[in-house]
Amino acid sequence: MRVLVVEDEEKLASLLRRGLRRAGMAVDVARDGDGALTRATSTDYDVILLDVMLPGRDGIELCRMLRERDVWSPTLMLTALGEVDDRVRGLDAGADDYLTKPFSFEELLARIRALTRRPVGPRSAILSVDDLRLDPAARRAWRGEVELALTAREFALFEAFMRRPGEVLSRFDLLEHAWDESYENRSNVIEVYVGYLRDKVDRPFGRNSLETVRGAGYRLRQEEQVIA
Ligand code: CA
Repeated sequence: MRVLVVEDEEKLASLLRRGLRRAGMAVDVARDGDGALTRATSTDYDVILLDVMLPGRDGIELCRMLRERDVWSPTLMLTALGEVDDRVRGLDAGADDYLTKPFSFEELLARIRALTRRPVGPRSAILSVDDLRLDPAARRAWRGEVELALTAREFALFEAFMRRPGEVLSRFDLLEHAWDESYENRSNVIEVYVGYLRDKVDRPFGRNSLETVRGAGYRLRQEEQVIA
């Protein structure tokens, strides 16, 4: 297993390097964002340990840049104790987990094991299907460069489609993902809301992305099937 440690504090960086090597891992260290970017885009690391507090661009910005460059190595952020905001921003930037300093080495190893058990692949914090994009954290959505003004309910329904592009979703699937148990008990609620969505997502752009699949449900059409 090959690990990239991004940490500017000399002492902690060499402590991590020594400990991880003793645990049988190959370890590279980057001391700043630029060094990390160069290494992570040229080597397919199994895990990246990313300190938030770095000189120049911080670990959160760096994480976002890595994901934008299609680097999907499982990433564990190292944050200062009590910095809830850093942890939230880090996860929303595409980090997979975090550990607050000071941490025990045993816990670090356990988290690395847990991270490397997950399948690796694009896990962008932003969902995108053709020219549609949806940011679940910021609760914003776009068609191309145009931001879509969606109500909370329309957003939830749109997110259900964006999470499963190209799949036929039944009315039940959509209700299950976009409505809670207190949903308006109207049999045509999905038809009504899909109609609202089409008025905002498709019609103004002359598009027909939200298809009706007769007798089965609805599908967000995916123009380009990209196999990663
Ligand atoms: Ca640091």
